Amino acid sequence: MDDCIIIGAGPAGLTAAIYLARFHLSTRLFDCGSSRAALIPRTQNHAGYPGGIKGSDLLTLMLEQAESFGARRETAAVTAIVPIADGFEVLVDDTIFRARSVLLATGVVNHRPDMPIAAHDDALARGLLRYCPICDGYEVTDKRVGVIGTGDHGMREALFLRGFTTDVMLIAPGATHDLDQQCRARLDAAGIAYVDGPCAPIRIAGDEIIVTTAAGEQVFDSIYPALGSHIRSELAVAAGARASKDGCLEVDAHQRTSVPGLFAAGDVVKGLDQISHAMGEAGVAATTIRNLLDEQRPIRR
Ligand SMILES: Cc1cc2nc3c(=O)[nH]c(=O)nc-3n(C[C@H](O)[C@H](O)[C@H](O)COP(=O)(O)OP(=O)(O)OC[C@H]3O[C@@H](n4cnc5c(N)ncnc54)[C@H](O)[C@@H]3O)c2cc1C
Repeated sequence: MDDCIIIGAGPAGLTAAIYLARFHLSTRLFDCGSSRAALIPRTQNHAGYPGGIKGSDLLTLMLEQAESFGARRETAAVTAIVPIADGFEVLVDDTIFRARSVLLATGVVNHRPDMPIAAHDDALARGLLRYCPICDGYEVTDKRVGVIGTGDHGMREALFLRGFTTDVMLIAPGATHDLDQQCRARLDAAGIAYVDGPCAPIRIAGDEIIVTTAAGEQVFDSIYPALGSHIRSELAVAAGARASKDGCLEVDAHQRTSVPGLFAAGDVVKGLDQISHAMGEAGVAATTIRNLLDEQRPIRR
């Protein structure tokens, strides 16, 4: 039986792997290769990298660091977590692994606008399509920005981006906007235009991205989808962990879920969806796991 199984090798899972390996704990790290960090063309707000760093390069460096202390990443999708008397069974298809504790660091998946995958990925790599105003709003300072979204969430994203540029338009993902009077008043006060969809097709033309709206084609330097995310918390919820209505796992200040011995860190937990936050939560989780296991059976004594 391992001391801990970490599910997910994004910034949260890899940080935990570094900490746990350095605590002399036996750890397994499963990952199915879809970290959001791998989609980052170049992060400019992650501290310590003047000039920025490509998301996939950051992951490579973190894995190298974890491996240098003996951690190993195994490519596999975990299919279930089952609490047992002295820990957990973790299923990878028909194979059962056992551990005294589990850390879930499975992240989220952004809902994408309706466009072909190749065009989507090209637009993302070139900054024509962006998913994280906190991360890269700075890069669209004084640029033409479209936000695809509606309702309170769409309004908030548009208002946030208004702090970087005066040229913001909120486009309904479907035929019509779902904006109440208060939303409209706040958008009007900020000088943000809002138009109905259909929001398809979305196409790239040179260094611009063009969105079809009810008011005709709109040309932008960047668009931000504000379409929400799928929270990958199902494994923990099925094991009995409490989650919010939208699926984010509830944890205490030590990253403990409501299931004893089951921890969570990173985007899968409600909080700031950022690399630094994922790393911080993982450090807290790993240290709490270490102390819990040491109480049960002193480490190296
Ligand atoms: C385009 C884009 C740009 C961004 N830019 C920035 C930025 O500049 N700065 C910043 O701080 N943040 C940025 N972010 C956000 C950042 O990527 C996330 O906050 C961060 O990756 C969260 O880390 P995580 O470890 O929680 O999740 P993730 O990085 O998403 O990793 C989760 C891992 O879990 C694995 N997994 C999921 N389910 C299973 C399963 N059942 N079995 C095994 N493995 C599983 C996945 O394969 C994945 O590798 C950006 C995000 C995007 C999409």
